[in-house]
Amino acid sequence: MVPYVTSWSDEKKLPAEIIMRTSMGISFGIAFADETAADRDRDGILWTRKPDHHRQGRPEFGNIHSRRQRRAMRLLLCQVCAQPADSDEDGVLWLLPDYYAEAQDWPENYDLAEPPICRSCVPVATRLCPALRRGHLGIRARSAPVCGVRGLVYGPSRPAPVLVGDYEVRYDNPTIRWTVADQLLRTLQDCTAVDLDQYRPAQHGHDPQTSEDQHIAAIRHRHHPPSPRP
Ligand SMILES: [Zn+2]
Repeated sequence: MVPYVTSWSDEKKLPAEIIMRTSMGISFGIAFADETAADRDRDGILWTRKPDHHRQGRPEFGNIHSRRQRRAMRLLLCQVCAQPADSDEDGVLWLLPDYYAEAQDWPENYDLAEPPICRSCVPVATRLCPALRRGHLGIRARSAPVCGVRGLVYGPSRPAPVLVGDYEVRYDNPTIRWTVADQLLRTLQDCTAVDLDQYRPAQHGHDPQTSEDQHIAAIRHRHHPPSPRP
């Protein structure tokens, strides 16, 4: 089972020459030298060029295909099977790495690039996604507006713009005009925690993956002992 948003080895990013956009001698962003209307979305955001050769070659887990990620994110499709993500009165279902679980108010207003999930794909997503294998949470969000992109940010320079780094950039940040987008972001709002165990099928026999997950959970537990009672 290979998630819908996973890139395949025949889907190598296409090279594109980056140039500065100027108006009356003042640079205000970047463009592709041979840019066409297909390179920007309806918001005028420049998107990375990646061919669509879905399921050709080998899957590259951890490498996300920008066009399929964008489609799944826009339409709220499951990142694994591309069917509509699970939704109930508490909102759409999302799987999050638990890195920031102790931060105050998290995941309220958390920006994320991973599209949502359907119930039946929860087990496979937590097994295949490297970020989720280390620990994850289920969240339902009643609202999750599209808020920006993740991509390569460039800075003004002569003779050509210079690469600054890979960042998450919100639409209201002027840096968005200096970004080649790779993934679409949504921000989670009005969140409710979900008990994911209810979506896992009952286990029979010894599944090595389950044993490994239990092992990791045990280690995590050891490193985070419960606070002593007064
Ligand atoms: Zn699914």
